[in-house]
Amino acid sequence: MRQIGQVGFMDKPVPRPGPLDAVVKTTAALICTSDSHTVRGGIGPRENLTLGHEGVGVVHEVGEEVKGFRPGDRVLSGAITPDWGDLASQNGHPSQSGGPLGGFKFANSKDGVFAEYFHVNEADANLAKIPDDVPDEMAVYCADMLSTGFMGAENGHIPIGGTVAVLAQGPVGLMATAGARLRGAGLVIGVESVPGRQRLAREYGADEIVDFTEEDVVERVLDLTQGQGVDTAIEALGADATFQSAIRITKPGGTVSNTGYYGEGEFVRIPRVEWGVGMADKTITTGLCPGGRLRMERLLRILQGRRLDPTPMTTHTFRFEEMERAFEISDKKIEDMVKVLITFP
Ligand SMILES: [Zn+2]
Repeated sequence: MRQIGQVGFMDKPVPRPGPLDAVVKTTAALICTSDSHTVRGGIGPRENLTLGHEGVGVVHEVGEEVKGFRPGDRVLSGAITPDWGDLASQNGHPSQSGGPLGGFKFANSKDGVFAEYFHVNEADANLAKIPDDVPDEMAVYCADMLSTGFMGAENGHIPIGGTVAVLAQGPVGLMATAGARLRGAGLVIGVESVPGRQRLAREYGADEIVDFTEEDVVERVLDLTQGQGVDTAIEALGADATFQSAIRITKPGGTVSNTGYYGEGEFVRIPRVEWGVGMADKTITTGLCPGGRLRMERLLRILQGRRLDPTPMTTHTFRFEEMERAFEISDKKIEDMVKVLITFP
């Protein structure tokens, strides 16, 4: 990112690790909608910032205090790389270390992973070794898509056998759908209009698909739940309309679990009556993609055990040299794009 609205290649020196850090030689990365938000100014002006926060690679160099990793190790870094000594981390919210969303460092407060080499702070806490039988192009989904999507299910407090609606089936919504199934939901409803994403949603565990261009989401979800509403509504888009629907379709005592990013407007609106005029025991949870070694190891275990295969979401693959075209496809969401993979030499 050269500046707001402008991307292109540039030369930078290979980063060097501090005592606790590592430098990773990139082998695979995924482009994210967040990269587009960043280029459009979503996190404010940035100049000559390397984009990308979903990457895997091989350890190139480690700082002298790093204990668990050596050059040559195949590794995954979470998209969020917290400062683990921070008070927010000690309080159980490492994504918020260093201030609101402060764990989000790649392509925000430092260079990201769309480069031949990237720097990882606190390597022992933020890297995980990739098992031999998990390929890079699969492991890279753990950095953000699995972590954020599963967070949506985890924060949704899904009771075993419970009812879940996932609003929007982009890659995060798809992984929230898969996460809801893994958490033991009895009925998973996917809200989506794009045929390719509807098909993936069914593959990942949606029992019912609601197409918001053809039917009223709230009515249909209430129908599917005998008028009760769902135990958990996962908002996976970040839009006023879907957030309101999520409140409306959640039963009293249920949870609205938000994963969406709200990039516009001064307020996010809550429908007053369906919120039980503030008294319906409806919980709204929010979160930013959790990072950290233990979480990444758990996500990799899901892949190693073949509980889930995220690679059908890869609709496009480009070499690093083709990054500009790759970014354009991801940014404009053309050619039925779900997720664009970048491979490195
Ligand atoms: Zn991302």
